[in-house]
Amino acid sequence: MGSGLFGATCAYELSKKFKCLVIDKRSHIGGNCYTENLDGIHIHRYGAHIFHTSDKEIWEWVNQFAEFRQFVNSPIANFNGELYSLPFNMWTFHQLWGVKTPEEAKAKIESQKFKGTITNLEEQARSMVGDDIYFKLIKGYTEKQWGKKCTELPASIIKRLPVRFTWDNNYFNDKYQGIPIGGYTQIFEKLLNGIEVQLETDFFEKRDYYESIANKIIYTGPIDEFFDFEYGKLEYRSLKWENTYMHTESFQGHPVVNYTDDETPYTRIIEHKYFDNQNQKRTYVSKEFPCDYTGDNEPYYPIRDEVNSEMYRKYKELGETSSKYIFGGRLGTYMYYDMHQVIGQALSTVKKLIQI
Ligand code: FAD
Ligand code: UDP
Repeated sequence: MGSGLFGATCAYELSKKFKCLVIDKRSHIGGNCYTENLDGIHIHRYGAHIFHTSDKEIWEWVNQFAEFRQFVNSPIANFNGELYSLPFNMWTFHQLWGVKTPEEAKAKIESQKFKGTITNLEEQARSMVGDDIYFKLIKGYTEKQWGKKCTELPASIIKRLPVRFTWDNNYFNDKYQGIPIGGYTQIFEKLLNGIEVQLETDFFEKRDYYESIANKIIYTGPIDEFFDFEYGKLEYRSLKWENTYMHTESFQGHPVVNYTDDETPYTRIIEHKYFDNQNQKRTYVSKEFPCDYTGDNEPYYPIRDEVNSEMYRKYKELGETSSKYIFGGRLGTYMYYDMHQVIGQALSTVKKLIQI
């Protein structure tokens, strides 16, 4: 169930041996990777999606379905009108402090870094890059994104970001990185080619029926919802986008600009044309606003703090007692997974299933 990356990868691989049916409650395939072609601009409907991995097998697997354009993600941070390079590297340190060498940058960070035992995101961030960067580039952005204080968030979230003492603005450390030429949706079209797909179909409306026709069901929705919130509601963060199609050639001249102050209500502005073909006369931009998950909007980010992780552990145990269901993907396993990790999880799930 679910035509997102986990469901579609499993369906593609399993359909080589078994009959598969894919259902999705949305009106399109692709889940959060979905892109839409608007006059040649491939709109990343659910936020900027940049594929990156260090796993050759996964990179080769995904390249079967599209040609990837070489793309290096390097968002710019805007803090109250001051612009900085991301991730934190010599350019950022130079823009902030005027330093020119790694030694000078390290000394500056050393003089202001947090040196105690790390128990939360704030302490982790201050120990990685010191207070100036924490207050200008991390605190506001993070608290808007997650709707919680940095002192209440797990340190693991910020560990995703590299800190480099070189002049390198590449946001990721991975060996392979790119964006499919022509967008992501074509990948899903190929993955699901020849497989029956029912859109605008909610699994819970006909759960008994699906159980009666299937030997195995792969579930990629929120695991707490599946178990009718038996142990309570897991927390998620949602997002809203404000989209504008502009009759100008360029708005910000860059695919992603992060707004890191705490007053601007959005976290980033995406200019989609820079992900793909850049020759259009017009441009399309999306402002990304984080918001609470209410149950009526989409749960984009699992909030994996201690309380939620403990609750998820119980749901996971419950899930393991079922021989019919397999839970996978960002929501089914409550993990802040990137695309390559979801593909990896799906391919190993398929291997296990084929052995059964
Ligand atoms: P989803 O894409 O959420 O798919 C789950 C599907 O299940 C959905 O289509 C949903 O409609 C369907 N479903 C749920 N419940 C039901 C139900 N009851 N009945 C029927 N269908 C149901 N990853 C990267 O690698 N690089 C990036 O740059 C990147 N940027 C991101 C930016 C944002 C804003 C977000 C939110 C995510 C980003 N990701 C990125 C992560 C990436 O989107 C995920 O790793 C991937 O899409 C997860 O795939 P999935 O199949 O687990 O989940
Ligand atoms: N982050 C930040 N400032 C930025 C960008 C990221 O503080 O300008 C932190 C923030 O805590 C965020 C985390 O790094 O939650 C991970 O950011 P990433 O861009 O990887 O998030 P995603 O793309 O998954 O939304």
